[in-house]
Amino acid sequence: MSDFLEEEVIERDFFSRPLEVQEDLLQQTWCNNCAEVDLGMKNPKEYESKDRVWIEGECLKCGQSTVTEIDESEE
Ligand SMILES: [Zn+2]
Repeated sequence: MSDFLEEEVIERDFFSRPLEVQEDLLQQTWCNNCAEVDLGMKNPKEYESKDRVWIEGECLKCGQSTVTEIDESEE
């Protein structure tokens, strides 16, 4: 028995989301580097693991990696 949690990460297609959802998600960001919200991101990639979904992209202002978690309560 092991308490090591192996998290399987699946890459999803961000661009299969409705356009308005894409725009919202690309706009509503938090950048750790700039310490500011809503700077926007580019080159989004969407990932899914067992219990969460998130989008990784690059901050429009500084180019650093930025991550947005998505609440997918509706199934
Ligand atoms: Zn930034």
